[in-house]
Amino acid sequence: MNDLQKRTWAEISLENLRHNYEAIRKSLPAGCRFLGVVKADAYGHGALPVSRLLQEAGADYLAVSCLDEALELRRGGITMPILILGHTPYAYTGTLIEENITQTVTCLAKALEYSAEAVRLGKELKIHIKLDTGMSRLGFLCAGNYFEEGVDNVIRSCRLPGLNPEGVYTHFAVSDEPGEDSEAYTRAQFRLFMDVIAAVKARGGVEFPIRHCANSGATVSYPEMALDMVRPGLLLYGYGDSSGKLGLLPCMRLVTTVSTIKFYEPGTSVSYGRRFTTDRRTRMGVLAIGYADGLPRLISNKCSFAAGGGFAPQRGSICMDMCMVDLTELPQVDVGSEVELFGPMNSIYKLSDAAQTIPYELLCAVSKRVPRVYK
Ligand SMILES: *Cc1c(COP(=O)(O)O)cnc(C)c1O
Repeated sequence: MNDLQKRTWAEISLENLRHNYEAIRKSLPAGCRFLGVVKADAYGHGALPVSRLLQEAGADYLAVSCLDEALELRRGGITMPILILGHTPYAYTGTLIEENITQTVTCLAKALEYSAEAVRLGKELKIHIKLDTGMSRLGFLCAGNYFEEGVDNVIRSCRLPGLNPEGVYTHFAVSDEPGEDSEAYTRAQFRLFMDVIAAVKARGGVEFPIRHCANSGATVSYPEMALDMVRPGLLLYGYGDSSGKLGLLPCMRLVTTVSTIKFYEPGTSVSYGRRFTTDRRTRMGVLAIGYADGLPRLISNKCSFAAGGGFAPQRGSICMDMCMVDLTELPQVDVGSEVELFGPMNSIYKLSDAAQTIPYELLCAVSKRVPRVYK
């Protein structure tokens, strides 16, 4: 690391990532493929380094959110299959085909557009059909009264010229949540998924080589739903309530440094809005990290960070580029000392709980300004 980077950085352990990949892989039934979700810059870990590792380690598929993310991987030398989970305008069908990128198809109207464009080019687009079994987001409607129409539309889509239906998938809403209701909901989603696949085969003669539905939650909690491929994201990076079951390790450690330290008398207000006032003589440190680096402002005055073998309470509003911490009880922490925002010493869940969010959001929020340092 050069001196310029010695402000704030995110350490990424590729060793832990490989460990997680292998641990998840080992837990899968024989023959089950592994798709690694690397959307949103691999949940902030860096899409290219993560994808290179997965490619080399023998993963079968990658998934991203959009065409730009897929092209970044192709330009970086990733040759393995890539699935786009979100929408791509049909005008880019040619690019998808040229770059050998698999596109999700979520309704008949889009299937018709991709088909027409592929036919115009005289080529074939690889697609995965997405079913909406209860997430109520993208996908062919197929629940309840929509079943017949859904099956029909999937069959019609798969028979269109210029489309090669390689896979079918669905997405769970509560596979990572405990409780009977969540389990019943997940099982009902799975049953509907299997019922549609069976009806499409029976009525249309269409069979999908790759059926997949298991996100992180289902990969751990519902191994019987692994089918032909699992599709974990968060788990791969070592987070999630069930990551402990597989002995997974967090891959990111967010670190900053102390820029300056000053003593304030009792009754001194700190930072914008004067939302903290010292009640004793206080040794206050300024950290070189703020909300522009991805530290949520919502956790102002509500969190502490690991430093010098202890924890420094954060004080006052978090600013764009800086925030303050009370170092009175940590005399061993000096200017230039490292402070861990989250990582092995300070669980990301402490911060995500304080921010009323989930680890996913904090990982994705680590901004472009923060250099990733790979170990
Ligand atoms: C993001 C995403 C995943 C991965 O979810 P995790 O909870 O991180 O495992 C899987 N499938 C789809 C469709 C997604 O959008």
